This record gives sequence, structure tokens and C-alpha cells, in this order.
Amino acid sequence: MARIGFIGLGNMGGPMARNLINAGHTLKVYDLSEDAVSFVVQSGARAAESVKDAASGVEFVVTMLPVGNNVRDVYMNDGAIASADPGTVMIDSSTIDVESAQAAHAAANEAGFTMLDAPVSGGVIGADAATLTFMCGGDLASFEKARPILEGMGRNIVHCGGPGLGQVTKICNNMLAGINALAAAEAMVMGERLGVSRETLYNVISTSTGRSFLFENSNPMPGVVPTSPSSNDFKPGFMAKLMLKDLRLSQAAAQAAGTSTPLGAAATAASQQLIEQGFGDDDTASIIKVIDPKVK
Ligand code: NAD
Repeated sequence: MARIGFIGLGNMGGPMARNLINAGHTLKVYDLSEDAVSFVVQSGARAAESVKDAASGVEFVVTMLPVGNNVRDVYMNDGAIASADPGTVMIDSSTIDVESAQAAHAAANEAGFTMLDAPVSGGVIGADAATLTFMCGGDLASFEKARPILEGMGRNIVHCGGPGLGQVTKICNNMLAGINALAAAEAMVMGERLGVSRETLYNVISTSTGRSFLFENSNPMPGVVPTSPSSNDFKPGFMAKLMLKDLRLSQAAAQAAGTSTPLGAAATAASQQLIEQGFGDDDTASIIKVIDPKVK
């Protein structure tokens, strides 16, 4: 069992840290929010006084922070790298821009540490149930070293390639999910306006070539899939504002790679419009409100 410093104990990090404790690891935890810290301390973690304190005297440092600048701050400015013991493996599970992930790898490597970018899919439900998928970028030896730790929080642990390639995999997936949600909304609204019932559209398309995971499981049209957020007042699920963040990351990465993503760009614009209309805290399925604001 390992000694782990865990930094960032929000909606995802809190339950992930708790699962590591349940798996038998010893945790020192830090967050800017005292409430977030006390949630994990109640499960048996020790509260660290600072980032430096959380990162010292441990074998792994796990971070689960909102954006790339937070990771850069924690690694470089707040002292995680400066205070870690030799041999510590740094694991960043935040969803961040590829450039920040690669900068964090470079800073860790320069100081003699190895790092994995290891963003997740599975949301708060997966974080809670320890069934997350981890998409890992970094060298294979560090991946194998980190695997038992990641297995305490997830079920699918995948090595995607070198530094930053976990983040690349994650944003490719989420860009496609954003596109699929918008595409499903367009087809359902158009078909119903032209006279086909939403039930018939669902039944036919979900067994035909237009289907996707989003179409089948989180269909944006209310009433066709009882467990879809759209049938439950658009309660998340995966919040629209988080989807917009990931779509923007995909567009920044596409630009950096000089690759064309017209559908990703359209999904990003629609997602931006949805947030401007005030639906950022609703599930991603609410993208249908951009196509039909009066949908019920
Ligand atoms: P969150 O906002 O609930 O939690 C982030 C935590 O980080 C907060 O408690 C905040 O206080 C803390 N924090 C920020 N800066 C800090 C610093 N400098 N030092 C210490 N603590 C700091 O966010 P979340 O939903 O837990 O998401 C975390 C990451 O996981 C994000 O990158 C997000 O995109 C990604 N993600 C989220 C979901 C989801 O469904 N929520 C799913 C997959 C991936």
C-alpha cells in the first residue's frame, strides 16, 4: 500500500481520494476549500497544511484540479515539484490543455520526477463507484508503477502514449460526444417537426446507422429514454459548462495541430450559445434547447 498526496478534492477528487483510502492507501490531502478537505478527512485522510506539505513524504502525488493554470500553479509555483521526495510519481487526472500537460511533464522531468497525465471519463458517478476510465500519457515504466493506484479509483486503465497523449485521447472522445449530442438533437427535432413521433425516431435510429452511445443512452429529446437527463429535467449527468470547457480544449488542440474540425467547431459554438442562454449547470443533453428552445 502506498503513501499518496492528493490535491484537489472537489466533485471528482473527493470521492476518488476516498476510494484510495478504502483501497488501503495512506492519504495526505489538500484543497483550497476547508469543506472539501474535511469530507475526505472524515474518511481517514490526514489534512495537509499546504501543497508542499501534501507533496512531501509520499510516493505518489495525485492532482484533480479545474484547469491547466491550476496544475501549473500547484506543480511549479505552489511547490509540489520542489517539495516531493526523490522517486515520487506525479499523476495529474485533471482535464487540461495539452500544452499545460506537456509543460507539467517537462517541469517534473527536469526536477528528476516522472509524471503521467491521466484524465478520466465516467463523471461523478464513476468517481464515486471507482469505475473511472483513465487515459494515461507518459512513459510506460511510470504507467506500470501508477497502475495499482489508478486501479483503486477506476476500472479501465489505458496507456495512450507519451506525455500529453492521455489529454489528447480525452478531448478527442469528448469532442465526439459533444458532436454526437448536437447531431442527435438536430435529427430528433427535425424528424418530429416533419411528423414522425419521437418514439418511432428513437426506435428506428437506435437500431440503424445513425445511432451513437449518446443517441441511445442520453438522447436529448425528453421522454424517449427514461434514464436520460433530458427525461429528468436535464439534471446532470455531465454539465453543459464542462462540455464547453472540453470542446474549447479540443479546438485549441486542433488549432495547434493544424487539423480541421468543422463539426467540433459547430458543437463548440452551439455549446457556447447554450451556456449564454443560462443552461450551463444543466446536462449536456440540454443542447437540444439551442435547436428548439421550447422543447418539452
Ligand atoms: P471541482 O471544481 O468540483 O473541484 C476542483 C477542486 O480543486 C476544488 O475543490 C478547488 O477548491 C480545488 N482547487 C483549485 N485550485 C486549487 C489549488 N491551487 N490548490 C488546491 N486545491 C485547488 O471540479 P471537478 O468536477 O472535481 O473536476 C476536476 C477535473 O476533472 C476538471 O479538470 C474536470 O474537467 C475534470 N472532470 C470532471 C468531470 C465531472 O463530471 N465533474 C468528469 C470528468 C473530468
